[in-house]
Amino acid sequence: MSALLDTIARIRAEVCALHSELTRYELVVWTAGNVSARVPGHELMVIKPSGVSYDELTPELMVVTDLHGTPVKAACTGQEIVEWGNPGLPPSSDTAAHAYVYRNMPDVGGVVHTHSTYATAWAARGEPIPCVLTMMGDEFGGTIPVGPFALIGDDSIGRGIVDTLRASNSPAVLMQNHGPFTIGKDARSAVKAAVMCEEVAKTVHISRQLGEPLPIDAAQIESLYDRYQNVYGR
Ligand SMILES: [Zn+2]
Repeated sequence: MSALLDTIARIRAEVCALHSELTRYELVVWTAGNVSARVPGHELMVIKPSGVSYDELTPELMVVTDLHGTPVKAACTGQEIVEWGNPGLPPSSDTAAHAYVYRNMPDVGGVVHTHSTYATAWAARGEPIPCVLTMMGDEFGGTIPVGPFALIGDDSIGRGIVDTLRASNSPAVLMQNHGPFTIGKDARSAVKAAVMCEEVAKTVHISRQLGEPLPIDAAQIESLYDRYQNVYGR
């Protein structure tokens, strides 16, 4: 069996399984949320099919696309043509945004999008989540930023995500009036960032109901972030 076939099978299984984390942590309703992963060493990614409910997902239903979001079912590697097939379902309607991130951020191996309630409530107000928790210093290295208002149909969501994340330590961006997109070195890290983003969005919101949360100064945030990324991040 070719190495590429093995890799695609492994990533399809991983991406499929990670969708159950989105439901477990209550980050999604209906079919509105998706995980994707890059196929390392190839111009390919794996993403959820559009419109399939989470409990019906299987590894074989995960769609393999190129880095422009077009489904691909075979590739030529050296002298060999490797065929893995595709389910015949369209990829998630957010595929163009995921693909844009992979094309423009070569270190990113996984992307997640949800409309999780608290994070999306901040996005609806276009307000960044201030860094007022040590766990935010650890995971996000500062504020969770807001990206521009953008509609599906061209590269504007992808561009908004990439431009905002490049200017930040954060692996999460709240796209204005829309919801969070998160990135990671692999799909699992991107899912973790989505879970943590919702958690801190909720905690900071609750804190706000009681008064004004205390800021953490920049030097302390920097040291939390460095320590966590270098010691625990590995
Ligand atoms: Zn969305």
